[in-house]
Amino acid sequence: MLYTGSIGWEGMLGLFRSPETACLECLVPRSSDEPPSCEVVGVLGASTSVIGSLAAVEAVRWLTKEESSLLGKLLVYDFERLTSYTVPVKRRTSCQTCGSTPSTVPRRKAITLRGVGEYYLPRAFDPATYSRVLAEVPKGLTVRRRGSSVALVVLPEGVTLALFRKGAVLIKGVGSLREAEKAVSWLPPKL
Ligand SMILES: [Zn+2]
Repeated sequence: MLYTGSIGWEGMLGLFRSPETACLECLVPRSSDEPPSCEVVGVLGASTSVIGSLAAVEAVRWLTKEESSLLGKLLVYDFERLTSYTVPVKRRTSCQTCGSTPSTVPRRKAITLRGVGEYYLPRAFDPATYSRVLAEVPKGLTVRRRGSSVALVVLPEGVTLALFRKGAVLIKGVGSLREAEKAVSWLPPKL
């Protein structure tokens, strides 16, 4: 399976052949929670054509040679920094599609890793408190943009929080889940 995706400044390309490699679900577990979408995060339109072209090249290579250094891996293009990196995708034993002990527990309950240093918290706060949350941004944090559906809050360490009206938070520039949770610790407890 050849997988492509684009969101924000990122484009992704992956090639999987389960059970020899991980499957797509190992990478993107199904969940009842809404993942970040281009509608809320945005997407760089030109990145879709770049990724689409790369996918076409990869498809031709696979069909003619049936081998690829991309097999079982995800190639991520960061168009904001103009860099790319490849990460191996490991098979998850709890994968509902290819795992040996499929989990029935819904995943992505809390925070989802989108890319290096990016976490998404789908239900960080009660959507009804959006205005109050913005009004109570702690001193020392900069609100760079305040829109009707999303506000950007910048922390001193360069960490950026995108607060969505629907109650979700996208955290950029952190090194770990622990740092991501610390970055949103000032939010009121979810009702
Ligand atoms: Zn799997």
